[in-house]
Amino acid sequence: MKNSIFDLTKPELEAIMLNNGFKKFNATQVFEGIYKKKVECFDDIVNISKDLKKFLNDNYEIRYLDVIEALKSEDTNKYLLSVRGSTIECVLMSHDYGKSICISTQIGCNMGCKFCESGKLKKIRDLTPGEIVLQVLTIERLENIRVSNVVIMGIGEPFDNFANLVNALAILTEPKGIDLGSRKITVSTCGIVPKIKDFANLHTQVNLAISLHASNDDLRQKLMPISKAYKINELMESIDYYISVTNRRVTFEYIMLLDINDSEECAKELASLCKGKLIYVNLIPYNSTSDSQFKRTSKERITNFYNILVKNGINVVIRKEMGKGIKGACGQLKASYEREVK
Ligand code: SAH
Repeated sequence: MKNSIFDLTKPELEAIMLNNGFKKFNATQVFEGIYKKKVECFDDIVNISKDLKKFLNDNYEIRYLDVIEALKSEDTNKYLLSVRGSTIECVLMSHDYGKSICISTQIGCNMGCKFCESGKLKKIRDLTPGEIVLQVLTIERLENIRVSNVVIMGIGEPFDNFANLVNALAILTEPKGIDLGSRKITVSTCGIVPKIKDFANLHTQVNLAISLHASNDDLRQKLMPISKAYKINELMESIDYYISVTNRRVTFEYIMLLDINDSEECAKELASLCKGKLIYVNLIPYNSTSDSQFKRTSKERITNFYNILVKNGINVVIRKEMGKGIKGACGQLKASYEREVK
């Protein structure tokens, strides 16, 4: 099987060029060919030699993902895409500022968050950098659009696939390639503390979101197994580090679960965690999943919670709901690999 050309960062392709008797700048030509001119085969890259075309044809392929299913609603589309041996999902959303795409990083997920559909399937494997990037490229090509924002909040825990995530980010932001602005990309993690520090040390401008969902350890441990490994104070310490290194604002995601984490005490606790820090809270209405043990908090209760945060000087928004009708809303994605088997 040939390797996907989309798996390679530009520095990696440069090294391959040099190791095989080609020139470093050939990597730029190949990047411009596949990402800017969007050629369908290496022979269509006009400014490279026959030898290089042969080398590329012998070793690599330009292959987009197959779209198995597309579910469309007014402002949100959900796609089931096939990757080697399995399927993944991604969601395209239309906003007044442009199109954003929510992409996956793993097939299944090992984090086991109680409220999340994706966590019900154990991780089957990590996606490669190319498979992460190809979700964006495949949908742009299918819909003949240019995506303006990428949120890495689909199936999987991005920081549990750190090396591939970092390469995917490098490919997405490569000026000679896709050239998406780092500030247009957001990575969401359930809070793998050492990786938050590693991410800070990359010094990118990519946005970081943390799935917090609880204001104290007792509650968080009931909802998110990862919090048994990393307590909230360790998490906060890594976030302080991230903010001090990058000077970038961090988003806290907080799903509103009725009678679980939506009390006034929780709001006050959350406010004190965020007070004085460069943190922005995103309150997320809960979306029901297949075996829902949770209920969604009413609008009034969410507003009350929101008001407590505002009164305490915290920056907060209530997340706009999209894609509910097609099960494309937050936490509702599910790698439907079973379909492969039937
Ligand atoms: N593993 C990463 C990214 C995937 S989840 C993470 O944990 O951040 C993306 C966001 O959707 C997270 O904030 C997640 O907690 C939230 N989410 C999961 N299930 C949900 C549900 N049923 N309703 C609303 N949001 C949900």
